[in-house]
Amino acid sequence: MDVSRHDIVIVGGGAAGLRAAIEAAENAPTASIALVSKVYPMRSHTVSAEGGAAAIARDDDNLELHGYDTVKGSDFLADQDCIQYFVKEAPKELALLENWGCPFSRNEDGSVATRAFGGMTTKRTWYATDKIGFHMLHALFQHSMRFENIVRYDEYFVSKLLVEDGHCRGVAALDIRTGEYTTILGRAIILTTGGGGKIFPFTTNGTIKTGDGMALAYRAGVPLKDMEFVQYHPTGLPGTGILITEATRGEGGYLRNSEGERFLVEYDYGVGAKAELGPRDMISRAIVQEIEAGRGLSGPYGDYVHLDLTHIGEDKINSRLPFVRELAKTYIGVDPVTQPIPIRPVVHYMMGGVDTDIDGATQMPGLYAAGETACVSINGANRLGSNSLTECLVFGAAAARHAMDFAKGSSEGNESALRAQVEEEAGRVENLRGRKKGGEKISEIRRELNHTMETGFGVYRQQDTMQAGVIETAQLRGRVADLRLEDESKVFNTELITALELANMVEVAEVIAVSAAHRKESRGAHTCRDFTTRDDQNFLYHTMAFHDPAGPRLGKKDVVLGKWEPEERKY
Ligand SMILES: Cc1cc2nc3c(=O)[nH]c(=O)nc-3n(C[C@H](O)[C@H](O)[C@H](O)COP(=O)(O)OP(=O)(O)OC[C@H]3O[C@@H](n4cnc5c(N)ncnc54)[C@H](O)[C@@H]3O)c2cc1C
Repeated sequence: MDVSRHDIVIVGGGAAGLRAAIEAAENAPTASIALVSKVYPMRSHTVSAEGGAAAIARDDDNLELHGYDTVKGSDFLADQDCIQYFVKEAPKELALLENWGCPFSRNEDGSVATRAFGGMTTKRTWYATDKIGFHMLHALFQHSMRFENIVRYDEYFVSKLLVEDGHCRGVAALDIRTGEYTTILGRAIILTTGGGGKIFPFTTNGTIKTGDGMALAYRAGVPLKDMEFVQYHPTGLPGTGILITEATRGEGGYLRNSEGERFLVEYDYGVGAKAELGPRDMISRAIVQEIEAGRGLSGPYGDYVHLDLTHIGEDKINSRLPFVRELAKTYIGVDPVTQPIPIRPVVHYMMGGVDTDIDGATQMPGLYAAGETACVSINGANRLGSNSLTECLVFGAAAARHAMDFAKGSSEGNESALRAQVEEEAGRVENLRGRKKGGEKISEIRRELNHTMETGFGVYRQQDTMQAGVIETAQLRGRVADLRLEDESKVFNTELITALELANMVEVAEVIAVSAAHRKESRGAHTCRDFTTRDDQNFLYHTMAFHDPAGPRLGKKDVVLGKWEPEERKY
């Protein structure tokens, strides 16, 4: 079995992973940086981001405002020291990205164009028409290629972290092309594996978003933080869940019910023209309420409302939202220039993730995390649109700097002991490959998992269905051990990868379920019908979930407060 050694091993080739790799490679030209990704980096989910990235660029904006909007958006659960650092670094990071070739859209006078996004007081979102993710990932990827000390492992699936004496010292990676395991050792490891929206049936997330990094860290003993907070994006296409970006509302789009009314102006946070620019959690709830009140529309994929862009005009749609037009035409047969787009809330983003401090360090020496897989936390109970891409850049770079510092002082692990761990892991996975004696099919367990999560942990939640979800996800964890697989081949055995991903999803789902059921209040994206108000007295803390063979064990972590005192969240 191959063994390779690097200073830093980064798992994930999306925005956070590439940014971390560049930072490490630039600061330490003699260091060796491994970048491991289960897909070719340009296929990472970052590529599909449409809306934009947030940072101040205008005279009517400042760090204070961006900070306050983010804290308020988080329903006061985010850590304010992290937010202060984030807003300060954000403009520098976006300027860097521009230097590396990201073609941000421009105003007539040549200044950077910005657009409005939900929950932001001013136009703060930098964009590149509606294909920011593609352009950003491209700029990062091509810039990363300048560094010879970045060694890529494309299409390698990491299934285990290697831990020795409580230190993380490498990863066990399955080369998807050959079916062989390899040992990749590092003095520090950074997880940038993205989110896990595929746990839910209706999601904007790509197939590869299966919460792998969260499950890897959790199994290795690192706690997951605030996993109950799962963001629903108000405007996904029914059926596929494909995202219709918030930029449509930023550019002036309206939501309308079956009677053609702009219903958001009626909701208490709706203030005139700002109605459509409320935060995602509140708009998602308003859509569900409209549907429950009988003012939704019905189609083959369930109930929906309309996103109306017809008044915006063809020119603006073509220049600012060309991808939206293409998606609506292709996937639902609607031309937004003349017809409203059917939309429904769909799972979009995980506010929770691997617990880290402001430097990206986890509780395990040698293990760092950044991007969507991490919970720093700047998003608290609800993320504001367009903060995530910027978060990947700011904290990807920070994690790399601190991981490099750590790596300088860290010893190399015991190679033969670490290699033995990989051999054991390879044996486990080898037993799974083409395992015909198993009882259950991947598709069956995934269907049940999706159903359980949609029923128990949707836009609105209630105690009885959440408790049922806790029991069902625990049962699924047992059942996933008895999978029946058909494909015995070694080369590109995607069935095997899917089985490994399913086990990760089930593990993460159970943490979501247990974390959600214990939080008896409504805050941000966690809205309970039984406990309808926010309860700062009893629940102003981060939920920490630790791995235990019997199921997640919960703990608490203080929220870092600061100058922004918790107050009622009104828009
Ligand atoms: C459709 C869509 C649109 C969005 N639009 C916006 C937007 O406009 N603005 C905004 O701020 N945010 C947006 N978001 C959110 C944002 O895009 C993501 O949160 C962000 O891109 C995540 O980046 P990341 O680097 O953390 O992970 P990803 O880009 O998801 O990359 C994860 C990487 O980890 C690798 N990986 C995962 N598991 C393994 C494993 N087991 N072994 C090896 N490699 C592994 C993958 O191969 C991949 O390279 C959007 C999200 C979606 C789904």
